[in-house]
Amino acid sequence: MNLSWSNHEDHHYWRRSRNLRWTPFPLQSNKLIGGGISLGPNGQRVLASIAPSALSFVREQGFEYPSFTFANQDGKILGNIPFGSKERYKYGQIMTTRATVHEALLLEDSELDGKVHWSVKVSHVRETNNSVHVEFEDGTVEQCDLLIGADGARSQTRNALFGEEYKPYYDGLTGFGGFVPLSSLAPFTQEAIQNVTPSITMGRVGGFGYSLLNPPNSPSQKLFWFSHCEIEQPLPRDTPRINMMPLLLKRHGSWKSRYDDPNDPEKTLFKQIITVACEGKEENSWFMLPRFFTPLLPHWTSIHGLSKEGSESGIATNKGAGRIVLLGDAAHAMPPEGAQGVSCAVEDSLTLALLLKHYLSQDVTHSESDLVGEAIAKASRSYEDIRMPRVNKILSEAKGKADRKRQITWVQDKIREIAVWIISWLPESYLNDEVFAYEVEVNVAKYLGVSQDSL
Ligand SMILES: Cc1cc2nc3c(=O)[nH]c(=O)nc-3n(C[C@H](O)[C@H](O)[C@H](O)COP(=O)(O)OP(=O)(O)OC[C@H]3O[C@@H](n4cnc5c(N)ncnc54)[C@H](O)[C@@H]3O)c2cc1C
Repeated sequence: MNLSWSNHEDHHYWRRSRNLRWTPFPLQSNKLIGGGISLGPNGQRVLASIAPSALSFVREQGFEYPSFTFANQDGKILGNIPFGSKERYKYGQIMTTRATVHEALLLEDSELDGKVHWSVKVSHVRETNNSVHVEFEDGTVEQCDLLIGADGARSQTRNALFGEEYKPYYDGLTGFGGFVPLSSLAPFTQEAIQNVTPSITMGRVGGFGYSLLNPPNSPSQKLFWFSHCEIEQPLPRDTPRINMMPLLLKRHGSWKSRYDDPNDPEKTLFKQIITVACEGKEENSWFMLPRFFTPLLPHWTSIHGLSKEGSESGIATNKGAGRIVLLGDAAHAMPPEGAQGVSCAVEDSLTLALLLKHYLSQDVTHSESDLVGEAIAKASRSYEDIRMPRVNKILSEAKGKADRKRQITWVQDKIREIAVWIISWLPESYLNDEVFAYEVEVNVAKYLGVSQDSL
């Protein structure tokens, strides 16, 4: 299927959801999705397998970049760290908006609208011996052979596997960010910042990053910016952005960059972005996200047991049928550091799909329902074997990077600057191959002991 903007108009604005309320069709409401997102080469490789048109759409709209520039708050460049070049990994790292990725995936399947029940929320999940019962907030209940819980960091499905001990917790860091039109910045800054690789400026009280969002020289180019700082208690999500201006200016207002207007000391890049972001009129151009982490889960499927909420008897058990499978952030809430959340989620999806296809196609002599139950149990176990070691490693590294963003001393800051400089000299293969060169099909075939062509 060929995707283009004209598809946009082919969809009706309003849909009737299952509970018979009229709701905006997700394609039109995607502007609510918020922030920017960086898509790694490994995630793009998966999209090339399962949603090739969506990948082309994202790549056409996004800003491709091979490295991140790191600077300090005095404007000194510390180094350029490779972050997924096209030459090495076939698909170069892409910065785009979340809304673009969402839209691309919705457009990939022209019949999606008829297959998805929009605007209904799962309220309770429970596994029996031969099925999963899913209750929705509108009171309806559905039954299925297998439930894939891809319902994000605050997963309701996860409650069927675990109790309170694995609830997400606020880790003391809050992220801020948004989009500012390039045209809203001083002419000198606009000119100087065209085509530059994304940059992160690191100070002792947090960091500030920015990146272009569209291919170079696009009309209406926007700058995506993000910042984070330690805040003891999460602020309400609807805190007016103008109220955040003093905090952001206090932290970053005196920082320098190569893109400060030399004719006007008030027009430093950071001051300009913060002022436009906090005073600007554009809606959906701003987000504030208190960061929640989930402790590392000991397993991702119900094969190891169910919580009292998820079991049929209402008593927690250490035996399950593996018919509930967590995927993406529901299994491993991924922080922004490393920009691997989407890539890991799509790798999970493809791995699970290939395993199910493999086990369901095997000859068995049992009845059909036994066959399905057995195949699901085997796929669940294999999914955990393949995915958990890789994702837990990526997750621990991302969490380590997040912890280094907290307030630090002058000495720690200098050590970090030296470390960045050293890392910037390391070859891309050493830094990134393990994460970016990963191929799902190769790893599934190796695990199953079959050829890749047979998958
Ligand atoms: C500030 C920030 C920046 C990030 N930057 C990047 C980045 O640059 N690159 C990157 O790869 N990753 C990034 N991540 C991580 C990335 O956003 C996540 O890893 C990714 O979105 C996970 O996808 P998911 O589909 O598993 O979950 P989600 O994207 O959270 O989707 C879950 C879906 O489930 C639905 N849902 C939830 N509960 C229910 C329910 N009860 N019933 C029905 N539906 C439900 C939600 O509405 C949602 O549509 C970032 C994260 C943060 C917080």
